[in-house]
Amino acid sequence: MTTLRFNALRDVLHREIIKINEDKRRSTIFNAHVFDRQKMRQYLTRDACEAVESAIIKGTKIDRSIADQIAAAMKEWAISIGATHYTHWFQPLTGSTAEKHDAFFETTDDGQAVEKFGGDQLAQQEPDASSFPHGGLRDTFEARGYTAWDPTSPAFIYGTTLCIPTVFVAYTGEALDNKTPLLRSLQSLDDAATAVAKYFDKNVTKVYATLGWEQEYFLIDKALAASRPDLMLAGRTLLGHVSAKGQQLDDHYFGSISTRVLNYMRDLETECMLLGIPVKTRHNEVAPNQFELAPIFEEANLAVDHNSLLMDVMDKVADRHNFKVLFHEKPFKGINGSGKHNNWSLATNTGINLLSPGSTPMKNLRFLTFFISTIKAVHDYEELIRASIASASNDHRLGANEAPPAIISVFIGSQLTHVLDELEKVTDGKLSPQEKTELKLNVVGKIPEILLDNTDRNRTSPFAFTGNKFELRAVGSIANCANPMTVLNAIVAQQLIDFKVAVDKLVADKNMKKDDAIFNVLRDYIKESKKIRFEGDGYAEAWEKEAKKRGLSNHKTTPVALQANVSKKSIKLFEDLGILTKIEIEARHEIQVEEYCLRVQIEGRVLGDIARNHVIPTAIKYQNILIENVKGLKEIYGSDFEKVAGEQMILIENISDHVGHINQGINDMTNARKIANKIESNEMRAFSYCDIVRPYFDEIRYHCDKLELLVDDELWPLTKYRELLFTK
Ligand code: ADP
Ligand code: MG
Repeated sequence: MTTLRFNALRDVLHREIIKINEDKRRSTIFNAHVFDRQKMRQYLTRDACEAVESAIIKGTKIDRSIADQIAAAMKEWAISIGATHYTHWFQPLTGSTAEKHDAFFETTDDGQAVEKFGGDQLAQQEPDASSFPHGGLRDTFEARGYTAWDPTSPAFIYGTTLCIPTVFVAYTGEALDNKTPLLRSLQSLDDAATAVAKYFDKNVTKVYATLGWEQEYFLIDKALAASRPDLMLAGRTLLGHVSAKGQQLDDHYFGSISTRVLNYMRDLETECMLLGIPVKTRHNEVAPNQFELAPIFEEANLAVDHNSLLMDVMDKVADRHNFKVLFHEKPFKGINGSGKHNNWSLATNTGINLLSPGSTPMKNLRFLTFFISTIKAVHDYEELIRASIASASNDHRLGANEAPPAIISVFIGSQLTHVLDELEKVTDGKLSPQEKTELKLNVVGKIPEILLDNTDRNRTSPFAFTGNKFELRAVGSIANCANPMTVLNAIVAQQLIDFKVAVDKLVADKNMKKDDAIFNVLRDYIKESKKIRFEGDGYAEAWEKEAKKRGLSNHKTTPVALQANVSKKSIKLFEDLGILTKIEIEARHEIQVEEYCLRVQIEGRVLGDIARNHVIPTAIKYQNILIENVKGLKEIYGSDFEKVAGEQMILIENISDHVGHINQGINDMTNARKIANKIESNEMRAFSYCDIVRPYFDEIRYHCDKLELLVDDELWPLTKYRELLFTK
């Protein structure tokens, strides 16, 4: 094993920088491998083009003969770029993406071959659903599932395969993927937000959610990563003493990017350009070997697809550059973890960002309507948001004193806080003309278009308003964005529906003017949602205390957090909006708690293996060397030997002590796992894994890490933190 560590280090020292080909301007290759609008116009008849447009904008169905035409055009285009296969590309509930490639190639009766791809193959496929997570849905219902084309996300060619974005549903209609509920939530949000936006502008006929994610990740040399079984199997280091130098000097953030990493990034960006992923920024992050990549924002469904695709492309390009990407939220103890900030806003078909303050009081009232409704939605459903970002790996950030905390709160900055404080004082009922003028001139009219204090600075609130969008910062770096985005869309849709009902009621029953009614409802929302707002950047403990006083939830672990998904309130929300049925929600919950158990179980096994098969034998080997040494000293010095062998003897005892603790820890952990595995209910088992099995990890790790400090470096089999983090 030591050989593996030293061989890996040798490999890294001799790495040659991979040359890259970046001879074309990015603007000229952007979307080159995407069947985008321009190519549709080139390859399709006008009717077919319009059918796709209408499917995208209005959600209309595309009929069979048109689908045949589109398939033929896609095939022609794909083959012209060298594609040989096609696949329905979808996002099952594993969190990653799935694809099964079929060749265009088909044989004919006369022994010849042709390339074939028709409307049937484009529109629908039947992958075997049984090997994907289904949370019991299959037991209750039809076993088979099918994938169906999502025309709102364009087909693309990756490698030599034409990929068709699809949803994945059971034959009985239940969603088996992440995309289906996302699409449904986007529809609900469109309906609700359009109705409200019409108060301010009759020309609005569609509202899109927009998403710009920022992806953080670690990049580790492939050979070094392969030398660590924990990184390979669990995606994070389960042991390893922190390096003497970590991130304390702040010398990595925005620092110059090494040539090897830069070449990886450039290569990756070229791939992204071809695939139409509009990546724009790249920089070093806070921790050593940690980086970030962000695109220009897009319509949310497309942005979610692009993030999933990106993660896949990142893996593949990394391999070419002899790197391994670590997407885990906390691959290394003692240094920053990774997240995926989800910047979210609402855009109209008329080109307006509804979360952007404007130049007139009217535009600002519109802004305030969407802004305050979002805050109210987050206030009412904070636990559901927490649940949407819960996972075994994200617990290492959210529950573990790392920004952001597990408490959901909203940061809006001092200027907007002031505006809301003023609005809160608005008269109950009809407003006098003076009050209205005063409000429009001095409160609503004074919201600056650029909000100075709404930057990235605040780290305590997982949900921050950053000038013209909200930023959900607690999404896990390894997560699919679909789930948190579905929740955000859904709760805001529900809130906007309620808002419209309330405003219309005041207008009808109390004979109020529309803007009076809006001011009245907003005032109530501000009052009701006050406790979710947090402007401090306070240290963790003080905020935890304060949040508790306010009655905000603080769910530090996944099994607790996930319960909000199946609460009466959540089920009602999703059913009312037609996003998920109770059955679908419960099936998803089963999948998530089970996945939690499996992840912790795998980590427990890997930790047990490494501790027992790598750490203990190494410690004993070193102890034997020490014993030999003491014996030798005794031979030379006789009864006086302790004078010179004192240190060694202490070491020998310390090693025995640590080995004893590790053995005990592994035995106890294994027993705890056995007990947990016997628990029938997935949910209760998750609690057992969380509260009883997991705490042994720290105990075992502590003693392994101490041994790492004691044992001769030449013998230590596991690549050390300093090597993983500082070798370039
Ligand atoms: P920074 O915060 O680094 O100054 P920006 O505020 O421009 O940069 O953007 C940060 C992220 O937010 C980017 O991914 C960007 O695409 C995204 N973003 C900007 N505006 C919007 C919007 N209206 N909707 C969704 N995402 C947005
Ligand atoms: Mg950010």
